[in-house]
Amino acid sequence: RWIKQNLPGAKVSGGISNVSFSFRGNNPVREAIHAVFLYHAVDAGLDMGIVNAGALTVYDEVDAELRDAIEDVVLNRTDDPQAATERLLGLAEQYRGSGEKAEEAAEEWRELPVGERITHALVKGIDAYTEADTEELRAEIAARGGRPIEVIEGPLMDGMNVVGDLFGAGKMFLPQVVKSARVMKKAVAYLIPFIEQEKVDNGTTGEKDTNGTIVLATVKGDVHDIGKNIVGVVLQCNNYEVIDLGVMVPAQKILDAAQEHGADIIGLSGLITPSLDEMVNFANEMQRLDLEVPLLIGGATTSRAHTAVKVDPKYNGPVVWVKDASRSVPTAAALLHDDRRTDLLAEVKADYDALRTRHAQKSERPRLSFDDAKANATPIDWTEYKPSAPNTPGVHVLDDYDIAELREYIDWQPFFNAWEMKGKFPDILNNPATGEAARKLYDDAQVMLDRMIAEKWVTARGVYGLFPAASTGEDVLVYTDDERSEVRATLYQLRQQGEHREGIPNRSIADYVAPLDADVPGGDWVGAFAVTAGIGLPERVTAFREALDDYSAILLESLADRLAEAFAERLHQRVRTEFWGYSDESLSNDDLIAERYPGIRPAPGYPACPDHTEKQTIWELLDVEASTGIKLTESMAMWPGASVSGMYYGHPDAQYFVVGRLGRDQVADYAERKGWTLAEAEKWLSPNLGYDPDD
Ligand code: SAH
Repeated sequence: RWIKQNLPGAKVSGGISNVSFSFRGNNPVREAIHAVFLYHAVDAGLDMGIVNAGALTVYDEVDAELRDAIEDVVLNRTDDPQAATERLLGLAEQYRGSGEKAEEAAEEWRELPVGERITHALVKGIDAYTEADTEELRAEIAARGGRPIEVIEGPLMDGMNVVGDLFGAGKMFLPQVVKSARVMKKAVAYLIPFIEQEKVDNGTTGEKDTNGTIVLATVKGDVHDIGKNIVGVVLQCNNYEVIDLGVMVPAQKILDAAQEHGADIIGLSGLITPSLDEMVNFANEMQRLDLEVPLLIGGATTSRAHTAVKVDPKYNGPVVWVKDASRSVPTAAALLHDDRRTDLLAEVKADYDALRTRHAQKSERPRLSFDDAKANATPIDWTEYKPSAPNTPGVHVLDDYDIAELREYIDWQPFFNAWEMKGKFPDILNNPATGEAARKLYDDAQVMLDRMIAEKWVTARGVYGLFPAASTGEDVLVYTDDERSEVRATLYQLRQQGEHREGIPNRSIADYVAPLDADVPGGDWVGAFAVTAGIGLPERVTAFREALDDYSAILLESLADRLAEAFAERLHQRVRTEFWGYSDESLSNDDLIAERYPGIRPAPGYPACPDHTEKQTIWELLDVEASTGIKLTESMAMWPGASVSGMYYGHPDAQYFVVGRLGRDQVADYAERKGWTLAEAEKWLSPNLGYDPDD
């Protein structure tokens, strides 16, 4: 019925409730039929369909003769349906055993006219012939009196438009797009000298038309890079001029760059919670300067709710939260398009208004007073507990750790997440939709890891310490030595204040360390660590960028991140089984990733210990900067970014939890313990405040 009502020219008899095509095996004709059918259905206004995007051919790429035959059948547009069917079946015969045909086709594209070759190379991300093809096109255009810029504005942009459309339609995936961008960049770089020469020769500007200029930056104190770089590449693919200011960029520098380049949009990125405040400050600053440029907000720690409640009200210009790289293009396009902008902003405003109303009305979840929460601490029977004394107490540096060993401990799931490839590893490698792109990315990663190891691209360095300790309230006291007479540092912890069901404690990390008065044999112990796989990384990444190879640059950064996490996992394992030696487990990598071991390694800034400044204590205890080179920024981000730090707690009951919202009573207590003013505590704990400090 739907076809009948919606596909003009379709002659359908009877009632159709289900359309099915049956061809055995991987028949390109079946895929072509799907493509043709979908094309017309979408054209006619189909609201929703469920398709296997991976097996889908693009309508325009279906051979014209085949397409014609399919349309005759699907749209029932001939007077003799039987003949049309026969014709299609006849054509289908020719596509049998297309495996070989595909092989042939692989190199056949080199026979195409040069413009089409460029498009093909862009869509497939093949950069082997970029210079030769670009030169051929340039010469061809020059021969008919054209200008070098026309190569960019014509075939290159056409190709990138195809890429942009396929990506927008979910038919290409991020790693493929980033590779396409590499082809584009190399072609443009080849043309630049010709464009410059032309300027010299006849004073033309040679400036290309772009869809707009976008200034991107990771805010002050934050080092989030991969996601921002991916967004930059995707925007460039869609013909935006992207000015990427890098990481840890002060507000003034972003504003200056926006003015200098006449930015049409400013995009801010951030990974850690202190960056949220920095974004609010930036919006304030834009308002103070009376700007109107749209502000995009993105990155792991940001959210639609935070943008609506905290950022948007500060700035009268448009503020839009962008979920991921794939959303950045439609958002930018709408913002820079008069009609669509109005629609988008109306939509965003309604959405944010609703979020703000909900936020304002949010009936507070019942919260205990800090005292009542303390009274409901984790019940641990210390009378039975016998802590293990570490085999290697004190601070130990692991310099130049073997990356080949760490490689075996990589958790690949977050790697695919970073590349915005959805699905579970390792199934993602065989998924019909994403499999091809995922396998290619995974293979590229293995090849790069081989080289990283063989050619020593990066150095991994770590430090850990195991210390005598005891708890008092929410404080974990760390002693200088076994005598336990002198407190060297305090690890300040927070406690959950939510009202829990009967029998569920109000946890604090301090609960996992034997209290001062527990008198456990030998006394209790805690640990701390910091690891990096990022030494030498910035130089390598820059080298790739300079070679116009963003794909490899981003791949390398994402692999260094993986190695740092793998290092944290491996070191934790060695601490449990060798250095502290309280566990005699033997676990597979999957078991390690699933944390099926006793003890935890909570990381400051994460939900059980959201105060990022506790990293400073780890830095002092382990002298992290001197021994590993990892620095803390003013927002407590670790630099280089491919670094991980945390604390070790060995008690078998230790688990991760979410501290959640805090009452003013606990925040005041925490401020006092840390020697902070209340305002300082409220600044660092702002995402966890269960009250409005201005009230
Ligand atoms: N396999 C992952 C790394 C583990 S993520 C990867 O390769 O990326 C889990 C880590 O995050 C934990 O080991 C801990 O350091 C931190 N973490 C997770 N939840 C936490 C919580 N609630 N509180 C504190 N730290 C937490």
